[in-house]
Amino acid sequence: MGYKSDIEIAREAKKQPIQEIGAKLGIPAEDLLPYGHDKAKVSEAFIKGLAGRENGKLILVTAINPTPAGEGKTTTTVGLGDGLNRIGKKAAICIREASLGPCFGMKGGAAGGGYAQVVPMEEMNLHFTGDFHAITSAHNLLSAMIDNHIYWGNELEIDIRRVAWRRVVDMNDRALRQITASLGGVANGFPREAGFDITVASEVMACLCLADDLADLQKRLGDIIVAYRRDRSPVYCRDLKADGAMTVLLKDAMQPNLVQTLENNPAFVHGGPFANIAHGCNSVIATKTALKLADYVVTEAGFGADLGAEKFMNIKCRKAGLAPSAVVVVATVRAMKMNGGVAKADLGAENVEAVKKGCPNLGRHIENVKSFGVPVVVAINHFVTDTDAEVQAVKDYVASMGSEAILCQHWAKGSEGTEELATRVAQIADADMANFAPLYPDEMGLFDKIETIAKRIYRADEVLADKKIRDQLRQWEDQGYGHLPVCMAKTQYSFSTDPNLRGAPTGHSVPVREVRLSAGAGFIVVICGEIMTMPGLPRVPSAEQIMLNADGQIEGLF
Ligand code: ADP
Ligand code: MG
Repeated sequence: MGYKSDIEIAREAKKQPIQEIGAKLGIPAEDLLPYGHDKAKVSEAFIKGLAGRENGKLILVTAINPTPAGEGKTTTTVGLGDGLNRIGKKAAICIREASLGPCFGMKGGAAGGGYAQVVPMEEMNLHFTGDFHAITSAHNLLSAMIDNHIYWGNELEIDIRRVAWRRVVDMNDRALRQITASLGGVANGFPREAGFDITVASEVMACLCLADDLADLQKRLGDIIVAYRRDRSPVYCRDLKADGAMTVLLKDAMQPNLVQTLENNPAFVHGGPFANIAHGCNSVIATKTALKLADYVVTEAGFGADLGAEKFMNIKCRKAGLAPSAVVVVATVRAMKMNGGVAKADLGAENVEAVKKGCPNLGRHIENVKSFGVPVVVAINHFVTDTDAEVQAVKDYVASMGSEAILCQHWAKGSEGTEELATRVAQIADADMANFAPLYPDEMGLFDKIETIAKRIYRADEVLADKKIRDQLRQWEDQGYGHLPVCMAKTQYSFSTDPNLRGAPTGHSVPVREVRLSAGAGFIVVICGEIMTMPGLPRVPSAEQIMLNADGQIEGLF
C-alpha cells in the first residue's frame, strides 16, 4: 500500500498568505517582514511592544529515548498545535530551524511528517530566511578577527596553542574536523591547528537562542571566551571588539520566523542549537513572543526527555523565566518494542510482550518529568503497523503509573487525530496544576549539579570525574561561574552513557570526560562519552537523491 511522502503532502498544501497567518495572532501586516509569500519575520519593534501582555500556557513535547524506529516529536508538536486550534483554542507552535548538514546526509526533515507538517517544508529544510547563514558569518567573523589580531602583533598575548574558538560551516564535512590554518608563508599568519564545527554547534547559535533581545545578545557574544594566554587567563570576544559587528550581522536573524502548518495555523520556527553541547530548544525570543500572542504554545526539545526536557527545564525555562503548564511525552509502540529487545527488522510483527518489556523506559521518563512539578500526558504516536493489543499494552502500563496515554493519529489524519490529546492537554493547562521548579538551585556547586542530574534523571549510582575535572569546576566557581546551569552532553539513546543500554537501567556510572565553559551562552558543558560537533556524511548521502524535476520542484527531500 502506498503512502504519500512528506514532500508530496507538503506540495499539496493550501497555504494562506503569511499576512493572514499573522492576523490570526493579531500581528499587523506592517510588523511582518515577508520573505516571499509564505514566510515572514516578526519585527523587533512589535515584539518590544508586547511586554505588558499576559502569557499563554506553555506545553512541552518531549519523548522517550530515541530509537532508530523514530518517535515523532516534531510531528506531534505540529499535530497537537493543529489539534488545539481544531477544538477552538488559539494555539501556536514553536520549533527549531533545520541544519543543512543532516538534510544531505540521513533522511529525516525538521518540519514534522505526514499530515502534521510545517510548510514551506522545502525552504524550512534548506536556506529558509538565512538565519543559519547569518550565524555562520558572525561566528567566522570572530574567527577571522582572532587570527588577524595575532597577525598584527597579538597585543592581547593570545597563546596560539590555546585558541578555543574554531570555525563553522553548515554542512556535514568530516574533512574539516581538524585542520592546520595559516599555511603558506609569512603573509598568511602563524600556522596553528584549527578545525570546523557544524553551525548548529556554534556558541553564537546558543547565544542567539537564549538572548532576550539584541542588547542581551551582544552582551552574551562579548562574554564568549575565545582563547587563553600563557598564564591561562581567558581572552574574551569583547577584548577583540568583535561583539558589535557580530550583533550587526545577527540583527535580522534575531527576529523570529513565522510560517504555517498544513492546516494554516501559526508556527514559529526559530533557532536550532545542538541538543548535546547546547540545550536543543528553539529561541527564547520566539517562545516568549508566541506566549504573548497565543493562549497555548506547543514547543519541542531535542532528543529524549532525559536530555531534552531536562535542559528545557533547567536551562531554558530557568534562564528565561518560563514555566511549562504540561508536558507531553511521545512514545511509539515500535520504540517500546525496540526497548524490549526487538530488532529493527522485526518491528512489523505484533509482539505485545516486547511492548510491555520496553515500557519501563517510558515509565521512568514520566516519573522524571513529574519531578519538575509538571503534569504529564503520554501521546502514543500511531504507526499504521501498530496493533490494538500493542496500543492497549502501552495504555495499561501508563495507567499503572498513574498517568494517561492517548492514541494520536495526526501523521495519517492531521488534527482529527489529536482532538482527544488536545482536549486533555488544554484541560490540564487550564487547571493550572503545574508547580514547576528546576531540579537544582543556582547556588548548588557545579559538581553537585552534575551529580543531581545523573542520580535523579539518569538514575546512576555515581559520577566519575578525574581530579583535573573537579579542579576545573572549582576554578570556575572561584571565577564567578558557579551559578551557571550544566548542559549535559551524552548519548541520546540511553539513560546511561552506553548507547546500547536500552530500557530503564540502574546502577550505572556516568564518566565525565571533559568540561567546557560556554560563558556567552551561560552554561557549563559536561561531556560524557564521544560527542561529535562536526558530523560526516553516510556512505550513500541523501544528497545523491535530491534534485529538481521537470517542473522545477524539489525531489528526494524526505
Ligand atoms: P523527532 O522530532 O522526534 O526527531 P519527527 O517528528 O521529525 O521526529 O519524525 C521523524 C520522521 O518520522 C519523519 O520523517 C516523520 O514523517 C516520521 N513519522 C513520524 N510519525 C510517524 C508516524 N506516526 N507514522 C509514520 N512515520 C512517522
Ligand atoms: Mg524534531
